Order: sequence, then C-alpha cells, then structure tokens
Amino acid sequence: MTELTFTRTEAQRLPAAEREAILADPGFGNYFTDHMVSIVWTKQDGWQHAEVLPYGPIPMDPASSVLHYGQEIFEGMKAYRRADGSIVAFRPDENAKRLNDSARRLALPEIPVDLFVEAVRELIAADAAWVPSGADQSLYLRPFMIADENFLGVRAAERARFMVIASPAGPYFKGGVKPVSIWLSQEYARAGRGGTGAAKCGGNYAASLLPQNEAAENGCQQVLFTDSATDDTIDELGGMNLFLVRADGTLLTPELNGNILAGITRKSLIQLAKDRGLAVEERALTVSEWRAGVADGSITEAFACGTAAVITPIGQLKSPDFSIDFGEAAPGPITLSLREELTGIQFGALDDKHGWLEVMVEA
Ligand SMILES: *Cc1c(COP(=O)(O)O)cnc(C)c1O
Repeated sequence: MTELTFTRTEAQRLPAAEREAILADPGFGNYFTDHMVSIVWTKQDGWQHAEVLPYGPIPMDPASSVLHYGQEIFEGMKAYRRADGSIVAFRPDENAKRLNDSARRLALPEIPVDLFVEAVRELIAADAAWVPSGADQSLYLRPFMIADENFLGVRAAERARFMVIASPAGPYFKGGVKPVSIWLSQEYARAGRGGTGAAKCGGNYAASLLPQNEAAENGCQQVLFTDSATDDTIDELGGMNLFLVRADGTLLTPELNGNILAGITRKSLIQLAKDRGLAVEERALTVSEWRAGVADGSITEAFACGTAAVITPIGQLKSPDFSIDFGEAAPGPITLSLREELTGIQFGALDDKHGWLEVMVEA
C-alpha cells in the first residue's frame, strides 16, 4: 500500500430513482457516477492530494500544457457485480502497468501500481450503487493522466493530474453478437516505427477519427490500419486488436512490435486459447495472407478484441480494390466460444483459474 491517504467528499448527484432509470439502459459512455478520483503530481513533490471528489468540472488554466501539446494517456477497464453482491475488477494491475508504459512514452510521471489500484478501489467503493447487476452490464472505468502545467514552452510538464471516472455500461451488442464490416485504411496510418502506436494516448485516437469517418462513409463500423512502411502488414483497428483463426484452430495475431497496443483482452485470449491446446502465432501478419487464406479456405474466422466489446466478430474487410468476405460463416465458432469463456470468467459464471479478478468491494 501507498502512504497517500484519500480524502473523501461524499456526494450523491442523482436521486436513487434517477440512477436506477439510467442503470436500466445505460448504453456506453453516456452517464457518469457520483464521484471521481483526482491525484496531483509535481516534479518537486511527487504524487499528492489523493481525493475522492463529487463528479464535476475540473479547474484548468487555458495555458495548461495538455491543451496545447497533447500530453494525455488513458486506460479502459471494467468492474462487475457478482451474484453475491461483491464487485470485482478484471486485471487492474495490468492496466496500471500499461498506464506506466504509456506514461514513459509521453514523458508523464509513472504512478505506483498500488496507488492506481487503490484509486480505482476508492471510486468503486464510493459509487458501488452505480455498478449494475443486469445481464452483460458492468461499470466501465476510465483512469487517465494529463499534463497540467500552465506554461507554453515545449518540454515535459512538471505538473500532472491523474483521475479516474466511471460510467455504467450496458451490453455492447444489443440483441446478440453481430459481425462488423471493417475498412482497410490505405491513405492513413495510426503508427510507425518509433512513434506512439504502443501507447494508449489521446493523440492516437484523434488521428484515427478521419479514417473512421471514411470507414463510415463506406458502410463500415471500424478501420483496419496497416504498417505505414509496408501497407500490408496488419497493425490493429483504431481501438481493438485483431485475430485471425485458421481452419485447424490456430490463432494468428500481430506480434507486439511497438506499433500496436498491448491489449489486455488480447493477452487474456491468448492464454485461454493456449489453455485449450490451440496454437497461437504472434507474428507479422499481412492483408495478403488473410486474403489468400480466406480464398483457399485455410482462414475461417476473424475477430477484433478490446475491453469495451470484448470480442467483435469480423464479417468483412473492405477496401476500394477488393473485399474479403466471411458471409454466413461469421461469427465463427472459435470466436463465439472464446467470447463466452472470457465473459463467463468476468461475470463469475466460470472458474477464474488464472486469478484475473480482484475483489474491489466485499459482498
Ligand atoms: C485500449 C486499446 C486496445 C484494447 O486493449 P484492451 O486492454 O484489450 O482493452 C486495443 N487497441 C488500442 C489502440 C487501444 O487503445
């Protein structure tokens, strides 16, 4: 444990009846809980002022460095209410470690893993009433860090703020898991050698929005980015990692080459596949290989994965020149059964044999 103690300000923004109405159909990212966590860092004094505050606007100077040079990183994670009333979080240490990986790349301060997990625990405890209990519902947590020094010189800020906010989340796919079409971005890349592709930073998302619009104009829900050096080697989607499945059950996924985000869902699925005795190849993967594999029947499934949707089956990859189609074969059986297994562990229906769940609030 850390020596920082949290000061708590109790607040209930919304009457219980209003909260319950939101929890009946929260959607994703629309509503926020009663509280937020804030911890300040200065180069001189380190982490200080750990607080659980009423949710609301934060004071910020127009010269704050984050507004000008984009020093911002974030995490996305979920907490689940179990049948006995307890609340668990999925692999929170992994999120803490990844935030620190991002912090190093963006020249922001690292936060002790204990303090990160404690901050998440404090917020969940304060807002336990906001953790929904319906089917496929969870509390989505958004830890993030911003540079917050009032200074326009270009250098790493000497003041930063770490915050955690939370938002109740409903099932990502209403009415069953549906395959999506994805657009192969040929003009735009999200990462390149030595860039920030492996960091979870806001700037990567800003750069993905124009190609995301292009995808929507072409009837696709997501974008697939390839390596800007080859235009063929697969990186990932705008916010999800990619897997292909071979007819023999082997999983193929791009290796962590510095261009892609090290997804915790990706890592967990690789473990579950290996537990089943499936082979997993983490290596360079190309669109050409995907195309040839579907044509000759050796590649039978494709899916994307990330915390928000867990697993999204891919039905089609579209580009101006060609398309790869799984048609009626999507979603495939391995895609669906891995999804069922991971969500089963997260919601407590299946044994948590790897100890991925950490109790945040006791029953
Ligand atoms: C967050 C994120 C993912 C998924 O990571 P999870 O830990 O599985 O949620 C994948 N790609 C990008 C670019 C991301 O930002």
